[in-house]
Amino acid sequence: MRAIISPYFAASGPLKMLHQGSFVEHYDVLQRGQEICSGLVDAGCSIETAALLNYQNSSCRELILSIHDAKYVDYLQNAWANWSKMQNSSAEILPNISPNRHITRFNEHPVALAGWYIGDAAAPIGEHTWRNALGSVSAVIEAASALKNGELAAYALCRPSGHHACQDMAMGMCFLNNAAIAAQLLRQQFHRVAILDIDMHHGNGAQQIFYQRDDVLTVSIHGDPSNFYPFYSGFKEETGVEQGEGFNINLPLPAETQEVAYLEALNAAGNEILDFGAGAAIVATGFDTFKEDPLGCFRLESTSYYEIGRMIRSLQLPTLFVQEGGYFVPALRENMRQLILGLGSG
Ligand SMILES: [Zn+2]
Repeated sequence: MRAIISPYFAASGPLKMLHQGSFVEHYDVLQRGQEICSGLVDAGCSIETAALLNYQNSSCRELILSIHDAKYVDYLQNAWANWSKMQNSSAEILPNISPNRHITRFNEHPVALAGWYIGDAAAPIGEHTWRNALGSVSAVIEAASALKNGELAAYALCRPSGHHACQDMAMGMCFLNNAAIAAQLLRQQFHRVAILDIDMHHGNGAQQIFYQRDDVLTVSIHGDPSNFYPFYSGFKEETGVEQGEGFNINLPLPAETQEVAYLEALNAAGNEILDFGAGAAIVATGFDTFKEDPLGCFRLESTSYYEIGRMIRSLQLPTLFVQEGGYFVPALRENMRQLILGLGSG
């Protein structure tokens, strides 16, 4: 299997994030990128670096703007430059106000815009955020193009990841929704596309983006949001609206979930994707379901990823893997290797 890597996959990560009320070193450390790559190489994959797309190129811009709000994308491009003009501004933008309720007017002050466009304090915007996010999109577009051209599987090494990014909002380390952009591209080739999110956290971004559509099925297996991030979405009863009714499936699982129960949910997800008649699948792939992950609450073993790979392979669909989370650095290499071996496509 070809793996397409963002030119900035192993760049320095963001600096800080809020975690349970405390500022901590950001979990998206650069060693993640290195370990994930090593796992792919161990499993026999070749890694090619994507050429950075030019956002001024109309086909690239049109594709991104078919998923994301134009003003939001403008914000991502210019936010840091505007922020850094403020006296005593911080090195990264974090929202210190949340304008979700009771606001009476929009305000374009850099602090107000940060609150408007950044949904939580895990998605700081720094000098290179736009460049890095565009690098992730470059990788996913190149990998999706391989599927369009008839390859059966490809892996997009995206960092920053994308599955929490909504149409007009950054959140949870995510800025542009790589998997959603890929789905839009694959729809040019396949009548129906499914996104299967196996990251620890609910794929709220793809849910929001495709909630009214019946041509992209969104299925997410994740920690029960009653007591787990992102708290406000990921519940079973969120099934889509209007034309999209029935085309969003959430499979929340309790804390401490182990392999057997997880694979049961994955099997159910796979059946939904087959019933839907998907022509291609996009797997938003996180390794934060691992038992030692500092941001997870499941108890999967390294060998669980082999079983996950086998199950995904059994769907027999052209499949694009898109890198999302996974923060226990010492196990990332082996977990990736197990997944690819399970897929049988090293
Ligand atoms: Zn996650």
